[in-house]
Amino acid sequence: MVTPSQSNTIDFDTAKLQRLGFSGNRAPSLQPISLAQLRQQLSMQLQTSLDAERILRLFFTAVQSLVPLNALTYQQPTADLRLELGERASHSAGYRLSHEGEYLGELVFRRQQRFSDEELGQLESLLASLLFPLRNALLYRAAIQSALRDPLTNTGNRIAMDQILQREIDLSRRNQQPLSLLMLDLDHFKQINDNHGHSIGDEVLIDVAATLKNQLRNIDMVFRYGGEEFLVLLSGTCREAACMVGERLRHAVQELQCLAQGRPIEVSISLGCATLLPGESAESLLRRADSALYVAKRDGRNRLSMAG
Ligand code: GH3
Ligand code: MG
Ligand code: MG
Repeated sequence: MVTPSQSNTIDFDTAKLQRLGFSGNRAPSLQPISLAQLRQQLSMQLQTSLDAERILRLFFTAVQSLVPLNALTYQQPTADLRLELGERASHSAGYRLSHEGEYLGELVFRRQQRFSDEELGQLESLLASLLFPLRNALLYRAAIQSALRDPLTNTGNRIAMDQILQREIDLSRRNQQPLSLLMLDLDHFKQINDNHGHSIGDEVLIDVAATLKNQLRNIDMVFRYGGEEFLVLLSGTCREAACMVGERLRHAVQELQCLAQGRPIEVSISLGCATLLPGESAESLLRRADSALYVAKRDGRNRLSMAG
């Protein structure tokens, strides 16, 4: 059986772009091109990708064959997307992009010289070719993001965790930086559900997740690992520093003001902390953090235990 490799896909993509008269990172062509030609070229080129960043890069390069630019910036806060291409310059032309009433972000062209009215007209016409591919890319991005997130707590889910943990382990090895992991579990959570109902339990989970994210530099590194278990990945963090972060999280959760029918509920977490060993696998690191968590539970809960 022949399985297509990833490089085949990239080659195919590159070949397709070359056939369409576009050559990657090369400086923009100096040959004159008409607006109509460029629009036609763009409509084909921009269809070759579903990656919003790549689409905007292609667009930025292509537009420069007609209208010289120094920079393009784009942001779409709801998609958590921000891109700055080129170097900032004093004159700008900004556009709020939307497609059939759907907000697609803000795009700004910049350069050293003023834009003439003719150039602004050309830019606006070219922007029309960007809207549809950009909208598809944003939809695709939203679908990918939601596939990687836990909808209740808005933390990463297990799929995201598996991917990111492996990536962080590889990075930690390559950069010779420490990597630590905290596995944490709410204490006596079943009692909270039993005493106050499942929806109060859900609220507690949401509050705990928000507390964890508030306390951390990189909120993308918080994952819901199981029902009431979370995992926090601490890149560039050694054993001692991870222990301090863990203690900070434990205190913050303890201080949480959760209420059920106006009465405070006590919430606490137990944590297991493990730091990546030379040559260790993701599986082994997780296993050691889990064993440390087990020790924290066994020793009385609302505490942190370090893996041996
Ligand atoms: P321990 O201190 O040993 O961790 O005790 P515990 O009660 O927290 O642990 P146990 O594993 O006995 O119970 C976990 C409970 O978490 C049981 C399950 O119903 C509840 N749970 C799991 N996922 C959710 C959820 O999404 N929402 C709510 N409300 N409860 C959940
Ligand atoms: Mg628990
Ligand atoms: Mg549990």
